[in-house]
Amino acid sequence: VAPIADQGTFENLPVLKKIAPASNGPRVQGKVVIVTGTNSALGIGRASAHQFAENGAKAIYICDFNDSNLETHKRELASLYPKVDVHTRQFDASDDGAVKAVVDDAIRAYGRLDIFFANAGIVGQSKIFTDIEADEFLHTLKTNVVSVHLAAKYAAPAMMLTSDEKKYPSGSIIGTASVAGLRSNAGSSDYSASKAGVVSLAQTISYQLAGTGIRINAICPGLIETGMTAPMFKAARARGTERKVGQLNPLKRAAHADEVARVALFLGSDESSYVNGQAWAVDGGLSAGHPVVP
Ligand code: NAD
Repeated sequence: VAPIADQGTFENLPVLKKIAPASNGPRVQGKVVIVTGTNSALGIGRASAHQFAENGAKAIYICDFNDSNLETHKRELASLYPKVDVHTRQFDASDDGAVKAVVDDAIRAYGRLDIFFANAGIVGQSKIFTDIEADEFLHTLKTNVVSVHLAAKYAAPAMMLTSDEKKYPSGSIIGTASVAGLRSNAGSSDYSASKAGVVSLAQTISYQLAGTGIRINAICPGLIETGMTAPMFKAARARGTERKVGQLNPLKRAAHADEVARVALFLGSDESSYVNGQAWAVDGGLSAGHPVVP
């Protein structure tokens, strides 16, 4: 498939003559941001919303299937960062109409969209592949990969159509993959396949977006202590084996969600203006393939 820019779909695309200046101040000053998977108190989504708010975002849409904490997170962000407009949206990130609607809302309210962080995800089936039913597998793929496809499908055209008002096109789409999408993984096969799909989307869509100035990248976290992994950490604490968690990691520890959120901030900001189509491992070196010394 030819890049969108060559298909004549968007004929007056901005030609990239300038690059964004290095930022000495807030790194996403004035940007309009959508983040999915933000309900979890410990999660990467909430931590990322804080990073974007702290670094000058004009507006942030925090979105999740589960809305039990969304209003609390909104109040928290609004009190810490009063200049930021915070909006909540309760929706399934793999629902075509819902993703289109939040992008449309952002364009209607602000006339632009700068960053879409498609971060919502589920852990997949914790059973051997022979026991996974097709509908269970499809559910994981829909939640983890189709959600990133939809984010790109609706965010990229919106970013292109509004970027001519700016000095340079700077739209950034980010999908959360996993190290499980980069290499063999002891966990579930549906999860690994879905996360490999997110990496592949970043590679393929970045080609199809050629010439538009819009970038897309995947983040591949290693072991992060979040809502998703909390049961595992809780069980290890109860067993007194907490120190063993992360022992195979070169940094000998799991990570905090903020450590992933800081990478999302970088990839969303113009600081990463020449980073495109990449899978960014944030895994303490786990995927580097360190030798196992017998
Ligand atoms: P989390 O469970 O704390 O947060 C995930 C959030 O996504 C939750 O709030 C959940 O309600 C939401 N969500 C799930 N399905 C959704 C849907 N269909 N629509 C909208 N929202 C939905 O976990 P986390 O670790 O912060 O997960 C964020 C992303 O990071 C996920 O994509 C996950 O696969 C990925 N990841 C996590 C780890 C880890 O070790 N925690 C490692 C690699 C990748």
